[in-house]
Amino acid sequence: MDYQAVIEEVAAHARPYAGQGQVADYIPALERVSADRFGIAVADIDGKVYGAGDWEVPFSVQSISKTFSLALVMAQGHSSHSGDDEIWRRVGREPSGTPFNSLVQLEAENGIPRNPFINAGALVVTDRLLTLTGDASTALLHFLREESGNPDLAFDQAVADSEADHGDRNAALAHFMASFGNLENPVPSVIEHYFWQCSIEMSCRDLAVAGGFLARHGLRADGSRLLEAREAKRINAVMLTCGTYDAAGEFAYRVGLPAKSGVGGGIVAVVPGRCTLCVWSPGLDARGNSVAGAAALDHFTTLTGWSVF
Ligand code: GLN
Repeated sequence: MDYQAVIEEVAAHARPYAGQGQVADYIPALERVSADRFGIAVADIDGKVYGAGDWEVPFSVQSISKTFSLALVMAQGHSSHSGDDEIWRRVGREPSGTPFNSLVQLEAENGIPRNPFINAGALVVTDRLLTLTGDASTALLHFLREESGNPDLAFDQAVADSEADHGDRNAALAHFMASFGNLENPVPSVIEHYFWQCSIEMSCRDLAVAGGFLARHGLRADGSRLLEAREAKRINAVMLTCGTYDAAGEFAYRVGLPAKSGVGGGIVAVVPGRCTLCVWSPGLDARGNSVAGAAALDHFTTLTGWSVF
């Protein structure tokens, strides 16, 4: 497969969509990004990286961090001997069909979020990571630096502060779950770490490389094992069914790959056994997924035939 030729064709196809949709404006710090950016990177399972457009420009990872915090909780679960089952007692793995920051299911479902990729579920995962590591956001940042091979990755303080200033809904989700006994740590610490993790800045290149273990069935770039193959398979399965919020069905239909999006406009997608991709363009559709990013992934699987279906 000539990856460079493919992603250049994908970029040419998707670029006209860049600028469509709405840049996230729920916090002022994200609103400032220009909508017409577009980047794509592919990292193959041997660690070779190919890119086009703004593929080396850092952006706010936002909810893409939820994939990596879940992976880290699973990996940490090995060393703490609690296994990966512990987390699944506190968070489900069904698509929610509701927006990523919705409260409505939590009451009827006793404070157990539908899945780890909506905000409520990610707060539970961050809470678990806080218990396991003592410092969830720093543990995640170090993990991402290692996996991406980029020691310069950092939090964006302005974004983290802005999240906290406009954090009432996430605080409400956390308090609600705490009232059902589904948080181990105090709400203020959990949401603080969650805001920090969302604020990490990474490029398409960084994210495609860092997500390599999902294409390598749990193996890191150096060949050591981060996750059991079945755990990587499970993360990919939950990405496919829940990774793009209430558009996961549409994504499976159009793209057919495990994918996780964020309101910064990035989407990471995995072709198990072959490669990990990341696309970025800040204009979002009504469900919070990048318009040009979705068009790019759609075209990628059309060209390559690499949908998991
Ligand atoms: N920081 C955002 C929030 O918590 C992340 C949401 C997202 O990327 N969908 O609302």
